[in-house]
Amino acid sequence: MRLLEYEAKSILSRYDIPVPNGQVIGDSGADISLPAVLKSQVPVGGRGKAGGIRLVSTQSDATAATDEILNLSIKGHTPTVLLAEEPLDIAREMYLSLLINRDQSSIELVAHHDGGVEIESHDTSEFYRYPLSHDLIDDVGQSLSDFLDLNEHANTLTDIVTRLYDCFTSEDITLLEINPLVLTTDNELVAADCKMELDDDAAWRHNWQFEDSPSDANFVTLDADGTVATIANGAGLAMATMDAVATAGYRPANFLDIGGGATPETIAASFRQIMAFPHVRAIVINIFGGIVQCDTVARSIITARQSIDNLPELYIRLSGTNADIAAELLAEHSITLYPTLHDALEAIA
Ligand code: GDP
Ligand code: MN
Repeated sequence: MRLLEYEAKSILSRYDIPVPNGQVIGDSGADISLPAVLKSQVPVGGRGKAGGIRLVSTQSDATAATDEILNLSIKGHTPTVLLAEEPLDIAREMYLSLLINRDQSSIELVAHHDGGVEIESHDTSEFYRYPLSHDLIDDVGQSLSDFLDLNEHANTLTDIVTRLYDCFTSEDITLLEINPLVLTTDNELVAADCKMELDDDAAWRHNWQFEDSPSDANFVTLDADGTVATIANGAGLAMATMDAVATAGYRPANFLDIGGGATPETIAASFRQIMAFPHVRAIVINIFGGIVQCDTVARSIITARQSIDNLPELYIRLSGTNADIAAELLAEHSITLYPTLHDALEAIA
């Protein structure tokens, strides 16, 4: 599960990792202290280049920019909230991340001298890499500060890396990327942006309450401009469904296996994820009820239809456990069922 920037930063602050002062604002455009940096809260990078990050200094600028950013789709995602932060006076931007290196079975610290929006263009050989463990952390500050040319900050960097490591392991993070790590003109180090991914399999250990709430659904975006979304259960059936959509001449937007543990909440979260795709005009639902029960899926479909505005047309094929109950429930709500996937695809106008 990927967190939004404000969610990731609230976790960082719990571990005393410095982040800018800020507040989350919705469409009411609450009073913010000015000047401010307004940041679109979408779960993708490249917001700066897409116009999703704006520096504002007057109330009328703030109101106009809030409105624009809330209506700006970035890579298929439109934000529901913005983060308004106190602007940083940036002397330098660097890159710092913790990730899981599976080849080395380690949590690896990765850094670059020049962070910011062009990070992808650097050659992999230019990055500092350091396998972390509790014992090694004491000397990381010196070696990292040498690499980053931050000699007076060796102790601060040791503290930051120690806290990041604690945060990473305690919160079951799989990726934590600070880009940029900013050195301010006041000589402070601050995490100006944060990308954080959590291990969905560890959800039971936590009480995670995030916008894209945890689900064991396996959702992969294939094409942000796709026209047909898919919901299926089982990886094989989900892939076959996607292939059938493509063969029928449509652009599949996503891959989604709702999994054996699908609940009304996780299915509802899946519908919400699909609603973030601007061009989807049909949702193909292909369920073979084994562990997951067709009537559970049917109830979630009915709730989605009642609670989500502008839900695209549904093309549903269900069979297996409790398919008969599902068929009755859907019929009561005048929701069409198709006998085969082929029939469902043919019906897409
Ligand atoms: P991203 O484009 O989605 O990675 O969003 P970031 O939060 O990383 O912001 C992109 C760029 O905007 C940063 O690399 C900075 O150059 C700039 N930026 C972000 N916040 C501030 C700020 O508070 N002050 C200044 N001067 N620039 C900022
Ligand atoms: Mn960034």
